Amino acid sequence: MDRLLTGLQPSGSLTIGNYAGGISQIVNYQKDYETFLFVPDMHAITVPQDPEALHRNIINAIAMYIACGVDPNLENMHIYIQSENLYHANLSWIFECHTPHGDLTRMHQFKAKSALHEAFTEGLVTYPDLMAADILLYDPKYVPTGIDQKQHVELARNLAIRFNNRYGELFRIPEPLIPTIGAKIRDLQNPEQKMSKSTDNPKASVFLSDPEKTIRKKIMSAVTDSDGIIKFDEENKPGVSNLLTIYSVFTGSTIEDAVAKFEGGGYGDLKKAVAEAVVSKVVPFQDKYNEVMNSGIIDDILDAGRDYTIEIAREKYELVRKAVGFGRI
Ligand code: ATP
Ligand code: MG
Repeated sequence: MDRLLTGLQPSGSLTIGNYAGGISQIVNYQKDYETFLFVPDMHAITVPQDPEALHRNIINAIAMYIACGVDPNLENMHIYIQSENLYHANLSWIFECHTPHGDLTRMHQFKAKSALHEAFTEGLVTYPDLMAADILLYDPKYVPTGIDQKQHVELARNLAIRFNNRYGELFRIPEPLIPTIGAKIRDLQNPEQKMSKSTDNPKASVFLSDPEKTIRKKIMSAVTDSDGIIKFDEENKPGVSNLLTIYSVFTGSTIEDAVAKFEGGGYGDLKKAVAEAVVSKVVPFQDKYNEVMNSGIIDDILDAGRDYTIEIAREKYELVRKAVGFGRI
């Protein structure tokens, strides 16, 4: 069985963007691939985090994955916490020593996040090397992701190719798996940008944990434009296109069908329908989330995921450390 691997940072509550780009893809493919789904808590501290909130967000994220349809009982599903497996950091260090600094500082995410944090840390710079380690330790065929992480997967691919050329076949070259609809859900208040869970404007993102009323309110006050025409044009009409995209993700329809359904109508009706589509999917997730949180299954899932993945990571790391000349032969 080929492998699929992805992670969602516990840097806040998960958004409908994280659902579109990450979780929904895992749910769609989980029966066909051996799936590695992890919580990248080491990535989360590349920007400041409150330790108590970080602990909570980790467990909440696991419960939300399961609530959204990830099946922890599948034999081929491994759910784990990044920091519980020390090989990620070890391999990351080796990658850092093989990545030109300029390759890291030209990454879109680095540019965007360093602009928000005046005293940004070195971890924010080397983030893509840690992500490359997360991926390459497990030889996945695909990395399901939104468009924002495509550049980082490219960097992991380039590292893998360079290592294979220099040290012999060590890594499988992974491919990003980007959804055709919902690869970039946009910020509701500033649709030029992508929606993010670590936003400081709570009106900008719809969180999977938002109460029904809040979801409706946020969508009803989404920024659109003033020409009053419903059509899909991401460049000139990012706000309206975003609403059509969210509608399609949450109803399973195509963009063309969504446009056909709403064209000629008003933005208010479109927003109402989008809010209804999101609520009707997300509210049942929230019921299931509460069940999972009360079920006491999370620790067992994480213990099993940790033990299984450490073995795979250890074997890969041994090959790499020998290849680069570390320790004893
Ligand atoms: P942060 O603001 O802390 O970076 P985030 O919302 O960007 O949080 P990540 O943990 O960085 O979330 O990314 C988790 C997954 O969700 C990745 O696969 C990423 O590509 C995807 N993703 C993030 N935001 C969006 C979005 N707006 N639309 C589609 N996919 C997204
Ligand atoms: Mg992000």
